[in-house]
Amino acid sequence: MSTQTPWPERTVARYLTVGGATVDIDELNMSRCAGCNEDDSDDRFVSRGNPLRRARRWAQEHAETCRAMPKPA
Ligand SMILES: [Zn+2]
Repeated sequence: MSTQTPWPERTVARYLTVGGATVDIDELNMSRCAGCNEDDSDDRFVSRGNPLRRARRWAQEHAETCRAMPKPA
């Protein structure tokens, strides 16, 4: 299975969800799921410390549980 489609501009990390969608982290350390459109904005401003680490943690945890299918292109 190939998941090597081109990444959107400014995407710095991408996680594959169990539903087959992707969670992208952009250069502002914001995570967004392309399947359910959920993002990490709820905890983005309350969290301290390394923002990229926080974004990666959100993306990883979301990717493990989200079963939303990716939207057809
Ligand atoms: Zn999702």
